[in-house]
Amino acid sequence: MKVLVINCGSSSLKYQVLDMDGEILMAKGLVERIGIDGSVITHTKLTGGEDEKWKNEVPMPTHKEAIQQVLDAIIDPEHGVITSMDEIGAVGHRVVHAGEKYAGSVLITEDVINALEECIDLAPLHNPPNILGVKACQDLMPNTPMVGVFDTAFHQSMPPESYIYAIPYEFYEKYRIRRYGFHGTSHKYVSLRAAEMLGIPVTQLKLITCHLGNGASVTAIKNGKVVDTSMGFTPLEGLVMGTRSGDIDPAILQFIEEKEGITSERVNQILNKESGVYGISGISSDFRDLGTAAEEGNERAILALKIFAHKVRAYIGAYIAEMNGVDAIVFTAGVGENDIGMRDIICDNLDFLGIHLDLIKNRVRGKETVISAEDSKVKILLIPTNEELMIARDTAYIVENGVDMV
Ligand code: AMP
Repeated sequence: MKVLVINCGSSSLKYQVLDMDGEILMAKGLVERIGIDGSVITHTKLTGGEDEKWKNEVPMPTHKEAIQQVLDAIIDPEHGVITSMDEIGAVGHRVVHAGEKYAGSVLITEDVINALEECIDLAPLHNPPNILGVKACQDLMPNTPMVGVFDTAFHQSMPPESYIYAIPYEFYEKYRIRRYGFHGTSHKYVSLRAAEMLGIPVTQLKLITCHLGNGASVTAIKNGKVVDTSMGFTPLEGLVMGTRSGDIDPAILQFIEEKEGITSERVNQILNKESGVYGISGISSDFRDLGTAAEEGNERAILALKIFAHKVRAYIGAYIAEMNGVDAIVFTAGVGENDIGMRDIICDNLDFLGIHLDLIKNRVRGKETVISAEDSKVKILLIPTNEELMIARDTAYIVENGVDMV
């Protein structure tokens, strides 16, 4: 079966076409500036040899025109990878928030759309464009099954002691304020790959997966089920991130509001967009820029990197305690896959826990490999994430077997 994977943002959209017989990526692309002047689609056909890139600037006032451009591109006689739309057996949609409703991927029905609309309050920036993408696809491909794959789903196995906040319980009952966790598709993908690399069933492993990108989260996975994760009610909680603060004392919000004479909306914006390693360093949210600045002796860049690593280590330690051990620690996403120095600092001086990074093996980027030393009790793995493949797998499974994964 061939699967189209759609990841729809407010003004951009990423897509892939995968042939699930052999899990082969056939085409991928990006639509930018949807609803803004200068809408453009960048489509890449993967040929096995040199990739063929094609760009088309064409007005796309809504997501419907954007999806139409994607469909035109994948079926185009020159740049396309299929000859008829009938070849697409299903569409898999990345949807950020499914609240407490779904603990796995599901076939999208009217009821599912309604449930996702009910979650808009919980993810006001993400769910509306995700739902728009689903509806646009349904309009243009009315006979093709659609599957929803949710960022929150994998984390639904957490026990209440991990997800209930210590605020009046009625806020959970009234508003469903709780820890949800995000990046679930990535954490699930790398945990399954880790099990394959180790040759041990995931149901017999204690794993800590570190998704360290511009957004970053750590997850504790015991016997294939999430027992805790660092992101919370929103993706703001947990680790220090590119521009997000992660955990802070909540009293700071009101203090800044009063001292600066600004609104709570403005404080929220500061915590989401102007904090993290960017806020500390005052330089950049990109770890490459920070690495360069640190090498040049910039004190605040050095501090930002140290604080980032400190927080990851604190979570690793906490999750080892929660699971009473760990078999493997996995690094993934932009920073986790590529930042050799950051992995060095995170894993440094953890002998007591049986964690030994091999500094030579660690000199690698974006490649699936073991980077722990031979004598390390805990394996350290580098696994490039592949959320699209995970989405396509769930989509093909659900459509082929006629069952949801919840
Ligand atoms: P992601 O959100 O997973 O796409 O990760 C994006 C982040 O990965 C960027 O902001 C960079 O900070 C980081 N990154 C990408 N490549 C490198 C690299 N070679 N070295 C250090 N950081 C990198």
